[in-house]
Amino acid sequence: PKNTKQPVQLPRYVRVNTLKTTVDDVVDYLKRDGLSYLGHASRMEDLTLKEKEFLRDMHLPELLVFSPRTDFHEHFLYKSGHIILQDKASCLPAYLLDPPAGSHVIDACAAPGNKSSHLAAIMKNKGRLFAFDLDAKRLTTMSTLLLRAGITCQQLANQDFLKVDPKNPQYKDVEYMLLDPSCSGSGMACLPHEESCDDQEEVRARLASLASFQLRCLNHGLSFPRLKRLVYSTCSIHSQENEQVVAACLQQNPGFRLVSLLPQWPERGQEPLTQCLRASIQKTRTHGFFVALFEKLSSAATKDQ
Ligand code: SAM
Repeated sequence: PKNTKQPVQLPRYVRVNTLKTTVDDVVDYLKRDGLSYLGHASRMEDLTLKEKEFLRDMHLPELLVFSPRTDFHEHFLYKSGHIILQDKASCLPAYLLDPPAGSHVIDACAAPGNKSSHLAAIMKNKGRLFAFDLDAKRLTTMSTLLLRAGITCQQLANQDFLKVDPKNPQYKDVEYMLLDPSCSGSGMACLPHEESCDDQEEVRARLASLASFQLRCLNHGLSFPRLKRLVYSTCSIHSQENEQVVAACLQQNPGFRLVSLLPQWPERGQEPLTQCLRASIQKTRTHGFFVALFEKLSSAATKDQ
């Protein structure tokens, strides 16, 4: 096929499910299994590993890194829900949102549930995780994933998030939200490039329609009455779905600001939105990704504006 992306060799990332085990126990288990543990990574170059080697990631505390061809799909630790197979970049949203145990959280576009399971682990399975998705089949996959991971604080609904009523008393205590809506998927290293599409006009129209959906979801998310923090993410590399959506949203919601994220992360959002993070094969050894964190201004700060 013409112009498809070269197959890239990304490291394999494994997130330890802290509801079932600890990073130290998984490391010990894998060492006994014959893998060679190299300790904590300190630089991006450390993430280039030989077969059978593994280490701990330097940005995400529950993440282990393996060589590209490592496959855990048949492994006991995966089948028993002790580990989750999740790209490093896709672990950022829940980690950065960081909802405390006992809080009420919405995952607006949740299936198949990797980020929900991460949120539940951070919440120590305490509180409430309301998870919505339009696609019933993906929600079934999600139920299995959450069951295997030992998650019990969730309430799944096969519902259009845009039709969820922010004034419903059920959601009155929701302070945290993760919004990972449908996007072009242009950051996924395994998918064909849009440049290979013959009709560039069609590509542009699709991006415009995705961006308008993403902005509607964001505006809707920020309208929940007690919302404090909302994390927005896509696996797209297009600024139309990332910085441009975030900038439009900030303009329409003056009561919110962006939080400056992980100063040590090597790739930032495009100027002027450098508070946000980007991820890419070249700079972060992950799929292409974007994350923004919105925070409600306190009423005092709003008055200062
Ligand atoms: N956050 C998920 C994870 O980490 O596993 C991946 C989410 S995926 C990028 C986007 C999801 O949004 C899809 O499962 C899609 O069915 C769902 N979706 C699309 N439009 C929606 C809507 N209006 N309301 C709720 N879910 C929607």
